[in-house]
Amino acid sequence: MNRRRFLFSLGAATAAAGGAYAWRRDATTLPPLPPGEILGASNTVGHRLRQMDFPEPTETLQVPIVIVGGGVAGLSAGWKLQKSGFTDFVILELESEVGGNARSGENAITAYPWGAHYLPFPTQESRAVRELLADFGVLQGDPCAAAPVYDERYINFAPQERLYAHGVWHDGLWPQVGVRQRDFDQYRRFLDLMDDFQRRRGSDGRKAFAIPIDFSARDPELLALDRLSMRDFLLQQGLDSEPLHWYVNYACRDDYGCRHHDTSAWMGIHYFASRDALARDADRDDVLTWPEGNGWLIKQLRQRLAGHLLPNAMAWRVSALDRAVRVDAYQTREKRSVRRLAQTVIWAAPLFQAPRICREMTADRAAAIGAFEYAPWLVANLSLRGFPLERRGAPLSWDNVLYDSDALGYVVATHQHRAAHQEQTVFTWYHALSDGAPDVERRRLLQTPWTTWAEKILGELSRPHPDIRQQATRLDLFRWGHAMVRPRVGFVWGEARQRLLQTQDRVLFAHSDLSGYSVFEEAHYRGILAAERALAAS
Ligand SMILES: Cc1cc2nc3c(=O)[nH]c(=O)nc-3n(C[C@H](O)[C@H](O)[C@H](O)COP(=O)(O)OP(=O)(O)OC[C@H]3O[C@@H](n4cnc5c(N)ncnc54)[C@H](O)[C@@H]3O)c2cc1C
Repeated sequence: MNRRRFLFSLGAATAAAGGAYAWRRDATTLPPLPPGEILGASNTVGHRLRQMDFPEPTETLQVPIVIVGGGVAGLSAGWKLQKSGFTDFVILELESEVGGNARSGENAITAYPWGAHYLPFPTQESRAVRELLADFGVLQGDPCAAAPVYDERYINFAPQERLYAHGVWHDGLWPQVGVRQRDFDQYRRFLDLMDDFQRRRGSDGRKAFAIPIDFSARDPELLALDRLSMRDFLLQQGLDSEPLHWYVNYACRDDYGCRHHDTSAWMGIHYFASRDALARDADRDDVLTWPEGNGWLIKQLRQRLAGHLLPNAMAWRVSALDRAVRVDAYQTREKRSVRRLAQTVIWAAPLFQAPRICREMTADRAAAIGAFEYAPWLVANLSLRGFPLERRGAPLSWDNVLYDSDALGYVVATHQHRAAHQEQTVFTWYHALSDGAPDVERRRLLQTPWTTWAEKILGELSRPHPDIRQQATRLDLFRWGHAMVRPRVGFVWGEARQRLLQTQDRVLFAHSDLSGYSVFEEAHYRGILAAERALAAS
């Protein structure tokens, strides 16, 4: 979620005044939980890869380029091939739908995200993302403009975000009551520091912190920040304010699924210092968003790539022969495997699967992949028959965050609707499980039953919205066991990732994992790069 910088005014605490609502709840009269279920992602299919009990192929096809994985990276690779006039390719996707963790859902009320929900204005270095947005009509005019024009329907409507702390909703993500002058001073100092990093160039003349990450300076002094945690970086700067640590920790949990004591300081700073893109007629902190989040972008890609997409097809063996690469995929609907002989394979599935599937992978590359850690996430979509009661303070915003919570808050899927009056809505609630080690948290994610999650979510949301349980009509969950690669201390500029970035031969890695952190722009960039290499080789 985007963090709008809070414009200081100590008098702003008055924003919290007015509209007080008194609510009494009798625990014995709690309404029953709404209906709901755990919908995805289908880890049972993926777990078959451990057993490798797939039938041998019954058919062999020749396909010059096979893309494994229909997430943003795989679809972007396909989009680039098609744009370049190359049409002889297929995208294999193990799920019943493409989109990966940018997928979305829809009910009678609205479309809503199951994962990624916004795209910041792309930097000048994210040129291919700008071209994609121009292709979709989101960016209008010159994609290379310093401050492009974006279709205002897709720029987040105000109010953008608010924080629930001390029983009051605050505008923005910085609490405006209950903090001391020294907290404000430290917050201001932190922002100044981040502004300096944003302006900074490395000794090689590149931007210190760029998106895509590949465009960043390789200045050793800057890269040394990767060996420090974001928490320790703050403390080294004399920044020990508790609300400031909450704020930075929240940013790390929200974007990286990692607490700030686990997150590389280089990545922590990257979050605040890399986004320098401008847009005409929009604020710098605005973002692009849709009711279904980045699922809208997936829908556009899906339409353009119809005819190339093969859902319910899981690659389980990739083997380089003398003259071709053999891709065996189990097609779950037909319950059979099909072999495809390709000149080039674009591997856009998560990297952790590759050592099991790519048979000729060298031991050092497999070991490098072993160093990748993944954060588990839970996403809930909560349908409401009416907008819930509000505690006092800032009004309902697109993004709504709770200070005393291990979760990340919720976005309102109907926020970008243009209807003047809406009765029902859907809240999309996010939780990166980051308290313990990733494998422990992954077990917790998968073993916790729906009812426990539902009680947690409704219990937490009933603090700012006392009648949320009465309003709830449905609550569905998506569990992302390997939601995103964790940019932990030492990882992003460490040896493992660098080893995997070295150009490969006929199996080209394209997943966002390669960037060491997970956002749309990186996934898109990796897909485009792999497509360009595949085209050069064909
Ligand atoms: C909860 C959540 C919220 C997020 N929010 C944002 C956000 O707001 N903004 C943002 O920019 N980014 C966000 N991200 C990150 C963003 O969604 C990802 O960076 C991006 O979608 C990753 O795309 P990808 O193609 O690299 O990988 P994936 O999405 O992992 O796609 C890989 C695809 O490969 C398929 N696959 C796996 N194994 C096989 C196989 N053996 N055979 C065939 N197919 C296979 C998978 O099913 C999947 O579809 C979020 C991520 C999560 C989890």
